[in-house]
Amino acid sequence: MRYLPLFLDLQTGPVLLVGGGDLARAKLRVLLAAGARIRWHVIGDHDLSGLDAADRARLELIEDDPLAADLTGVIAIFCAGAGDVGVAMALKAKAVGLPVNVMDDLQHSSFIFPAIVDRGEVVVAIGTGGASPVVARRLREKIEALLPARIGDLAGFIGRFRKSVHARIPEMSLRRRFWERLVDGPIGALVLEGRKDEAEAELNRITDASAFAAARPAGRAEGHVMLVGAGPGDPDLLTVKALRALQDADVVFYDELVSSDILDRIRRDASRVPVGRRAGKPGIGQDAINQLMIDAARAGQRVVRLKGGDPFVFGRGGEEVEALRRAGVAYSVVPGITAGLGAAAQFEVPLTFRNKALRITFLTAHKARDAETVDWSALTDLGMTVVVYMGMTAAPSVRAGLLAAGRSPKTPVGVFSRVTRPDAQAVVGTLEQLPDLVEKIDGGPAILIIGDVVAHSAPWRRDNLNHLISGLLEAAE
Ligand code: SAH
Repeated sequence: MRYLPLFLDLQTGPVLLVGGGDLARAKLRVLLAAGARIRWHVIGDHDLSGLDAADRARLELIEDDPLAADLTGVIAIFCAGAGDVGVAMALKAKAVGLPVNVMDDLQHSSFIFPAIVDRGEVVVAIGTGGASPVVARRLREKIEALLPARIGDLAGFIGRFRKSVHARIPEMSLRRRFWERLVDGPIGALVLEGRKDEAEAELNRITDASAFAAARPAGRAEGHVMLVGAGPGDPDLLTVKALRALQDADVVFYDELVSSDILDRIRRDASRVPVGRRAGKPGIGQDAINQLMIDAARAGQRVVRLKGGDPFVFGRGGEEVEALRRAGVAYSVVPGITAGLGAAAQFEVPLTFRNKALRITFLTAHKARDAETVDWSALTDLGMTVVVYMGMTAAPSVRAGLLAAGRSPKTPVGVFSRVTRPDAQAVVGTLEQLPDLVEKIDGGPAILIIGDVVAHSAPWRRDNLNHLISGLLEAAE
């Protein structure tokens, strides 16, 4: 982040607008909407149609050279459609330390203009560091669609009562709960429906504000643990529910598999506690993790236990649920996209295929020892796709087991690493090559998919095309 979004109070002093044409008009509209007083140094066309008397009263049209303007008291300068004058103006502004924006000219601007969602008190500013206004605009459309129309009214409503509630609830965290309950509950709903008077009446009916804040709302008891699946890495693959849990959490206990992009989605004030193995060092152990969750929940916190993929797929979620149940702590489970499904989607491995692949087995082969305890004879079905978690070091045993079960050495195999992350990697080949394929992976976590369906995958098609091309090239020589 190079550009920090700040919200400038445009009513604290006049601003300068330099330029003309549609570009300057567009800026003028935004500045007027923010209640600014504007000195417009016109260059070229200046159409004032559509402005009402109140707007006109705050607008001063100036024909003189802007470079000679007196900048005393001016709080910011906007150049739009100003050509070379804009650049000269920027140099002058910078010399005296005044914030200046020259439209579509990063080099000469000291601040940039965000895409704006304007809902009254609620304003969302979207920036891309000047790199792509199109991306910013697309994002704005999405946010526009997401925000309730009266969200600004809700913020304004809260603003009016802030002081009095502050006086009634001195403790900050309790105050935060008060507002959360209000926003999430019937009073918030009334404001969003445009029934502000009724909302105010409801609010006035709350006699004990602290008790209201501390009460456990139905359906979202405090002191609660959510086991949340984080998916394989891409934060856009979080479920809506998982995202909400991350943004409501007081404390998040997370595993080493959880990507930093996902950790970025956690509410900023929540504490984050790594509990997994880190860089080869052992973690704190399952019993200690269970105890941490139980203690935090008993202290009334909203606890999230964040796990890579899905909590119930080789994630020890079952053990954690048992511990929470024994301790009498309320919990819920939010599924995540397990690594095998992430790999299948990213690399186009159809895990089932018409009448050829009719069954899927997910298994773990953590160590060679585990691999030896797997009953490979159950995997002889040629129409079965086998997905192996934690199978990197045990790859030779996986190969031996499947060959002994009668699978062909030519069975297509894929090794997929860091799936759905920016540095994802795929290597494909045959079962007999499996240990060599694993060698080609530069860093886990990685998952194996074994079965004829791998021949339909994108990396397989790519490799085949490469073979074909080099064959043709050789033939041509
Ligand atoms: N609960 C997780 C699995 C945890 S076991 C899930 O549902 O995905 C850890 C194993 O998961 C790793 O050894 C690897 O085989 C697999 N894995 C997890 N994340 C992965 C990723 N991003 N890419 C490839 N494999 C992954």
